[in-house]
Amino acid sequence: MSRPTTIGFVGLGNMGRPMAANIATAGFALIGFDAAGTADRLPAGAQAAAGIADLASRCDTVLLSLPNGAVVMSVIAELVAAADRRATTVIDLSTVGPAVAAQAAGALGDVGVLYCDGPVSGGVAGARARTISLMFAGPDDIIAGHRSLFESFAGHLFHVGGTAGQGQAMKLVNNFLSATALAATSEAMTFGTRHGLELSTMVDVVNVSSGRNTATSDKFPNRVLTGSYDAGFRTALMAKDVQLYLRSVTAAGTPDAIAAAMDGVWQAADAAMPGSDFTEIWKVVSEVRVGEA
Ligand code: NAD
Repeated sequence: MSRPTTIGFVGLGNMGRPMAANIATAGFALIGFDAAGTADRLPAGAQAAAGIADLASRCDTVLLSLPNGAVVMSVIAELVAAADRRATTVIDLSTVGPAVAAQAAGALGDVGVLYCDGPVSGGVAGARARTISLMFAGPDDIIAGHRSLFESFAGHLFHVGGTAGQGQAMKLVNNFLSATALAATSEAMTFGTRHGLELSTMVDVVNVSSGRNTATSDKFPNRVLTGSYDAGFRTALMAKDVQLYLRSVTAAGTPDAIAAAMDGVWQAADAAMPGSDFTEIWKVVSEVRVGEA
């Protein structure tokens, strides 16, 4: 596959904005669009599209970084309907789950557009620093043609499979483990504090002991103990990912005991603190409500 000459980017939010900025900085011709307003989210050097149809008429490859599967499918419906479409490939960086990926691949495939999934992980700080991982599922020639594009905004590129949705499955594996580590660490640390243990002491002990995980090595020292709660990933998005994982596990018929428990914990955290950063689950679990912390 020849390299795309112009890239479209839909969804310039917490993750999309720094990824798009790195693509533009690397010198790719970039056209962006965000439904909440493109001009103030557009990185320097990029052009604004008036909408999805306009964007599709001006680029070869479209990248998506959108909040959920319903939004992705609505944008794909607009791409399918676009009359003057030049775009031949859509690469979805959002987390939407394998079922939506398959649906998207079918809808675009019907009009001769290839859908691949390449969900990302590593947070907003990682997106800014170009250290995020990208889990690509799609044909060999597509990853070959887009390698320099991917490397402009991701530090770790994995080709996890050839079928749409396999990147999503990989991403759900990762986020379920991340969600479980943070929720379980919050529960365990709450138990420790009831026994008079200092939070910082527990984090130090666990980080050189066998309970170490991404919550103890990163979220607790950098976002909870500092009181900043600024990972840049909303509780609502993690609750969405855990629910997607649970649904996908149910569809796959694989064990779901911990997934079911995590779904309850994360849905409750989102309901208790709408709009919160996901590291604030500590406040819910430890029963320190927002405003009292
Ligand atoms: P976000 O809500 O900050 O950004 C989404 C953007 O999409 C918003 O700017 C919104 O205005 C825009 N949008 C919504 N509907 C649209 C439409 N119809 N057309 C065009 N633009 C539209 O979300 P985010 O944190 O940037 O996450 C985006 C995706 O990346 C999600 O699927 C999320 O699960 C995933 N993700 C996020 C992180 C993170 O740390 N934030 C990490 C890895 C993956």
